[in-house]
Amino acid sequence: MHRCALAELRSWGVLDRRHGRRDAPVALSPAQARAAARLERERTVLFARGYIVYSILMVTGVLAMSMRNDLPEFTVAALIAAGILAAAFVLSYLAPLVLAGSVVLLVNVSLPVVLTLAFSKEASFDLPLLGVGLALFVLLFDEPLYVKIGYMLLISGTFVALQIIPVGDPESLGVDAGRLEFASFVNNLLTVSMGMIAVMVLQLRFAATRRILEGVARFGELQAATDPLTGLVNRRPVHDQLERLADEGRATYAIAVLDLDNFKDINDSFGHERGDHAIRLVADVLADSFREEDIVSRWGGDEFVVVIPRVLTGEVATVLERVRRQVAATAVDCQGEATTLTVSIGAAHGRADRTPDDCFAAADHALYQAKQAGRDRVVLVDDYASVEPATNPADSPR
Ligand code: GH3
Ligand code: MG
Repeated sequence: MHRCALAELRSWGVLDRRHGRRDAPVALSPAQARAAARLERERTVLFARGYIVYSILMVTGVLAMSMRNDLPEFTVAALIAAGILAAAFVLSYLAPLVLAGSVVLLVNVSLPVVLTLAFSKEASFDLPLLGVGLALFVLLFDEPLYVKIGYMLLISGTFVALQIIPVGDPESLGVDAGRLEFASFVNNLLTVSMGMIAVMVLQLRFAATRRILEGVARFGELQAATDPLTGLVNRRPVHDQLERLADEGRATYAIAVLDLDNFKDINDSFGHERGDHAIRLVADVLADSFREEDIVSRWGGDEFVVVIPRVLTGEVATVLERVRRQVAATAVDCQGEATTLTVSIGAAHGRADRTPDDCFAAADHALYQAKQAGRDRVVLVDDYASVEPATNPADSPR
């Protein structure tokens, strides 16, 4: 968990190392969040077109019914409605979606009115208005509130009006009861299916929005815990881990404090930019040398802190010695000249009778000893009863 991989987060196809939290959401950079939101809108447009096609199918049903019952006025009305809906489908490619949506809405509201007035309520031609209303609210995205309220009033007002005004007599149109029953069945089916689809689409959109918001929050969280120069974590996760270790009360951890030797010389001789390059190279060595569960942080300047949560007593010295050698073997290209760096490392094992903060102070003290003893070495302390306890590792001297 040592790298927040800021570079990766910034690039497309973000790889969130999750900081040890398996359930953490995938981080989304601002650009990714915008792209995800755009995709969401595109899905809504797709749904809108599906809705128009669905409406055309509904009208085709009316057309079939009118032709079978030999009702030329309705056949003409259904043909006109189908024509308008087809035009709305084309319009959805050419103009803002709200325009096509409004046209479809008008057709889908007028048709139930005409049919309910002409036939009877038994055929339930008024019911699809509910499905139409629900679907419409899935399609409304950024439209102003007054548009949404206007549509809602139109649909619910029409529905209520159809419940109270007198309707026609289907017998006078020569439509028998069996056909009315079938029409009612189709209308119920349409309403239920449209309602279910609308709720499902709303839920998918809700889930997508939540994923985007959580991803953006996660990105901010990672960014706040990342050192921008090296991509390693900064102090925050170290503090969190020390707290966790204190809560767990186990003593199977170790803390190492690493500081580059005579680093000022690199800056002074080759400039700050080469100094930065050297810090990044050392960060790479450290990132590659520890396990995912270890926390490798850039503490600040030319100093790094590693918290190893589970380690056997004999292993720490070996691992740190290998790291020391690897840093010493890393060539830093300074104006065409290969320079080498060394690192001093102080480390301490956790102890059941001392806090993680004490362990940190002991590692810090060991680093001081390593510097005093001539640098480029590892000093590991086990017994640090004499080391002054640190109240806050961030305040520890260096
Ligand atoms: P020592 O062996 O005692 O550690 O000697 P040192 O020269 O490394 O001294 P020290 O660790 O006290 O100083 C670290 C120097 O690192 C001070 C500063 O000039 C440099 N430094 C701190 N942060 C950065 C950074 O982000 N980039 C670069 N290029 N240099 C930095
Ligand atoms: Mg130094």
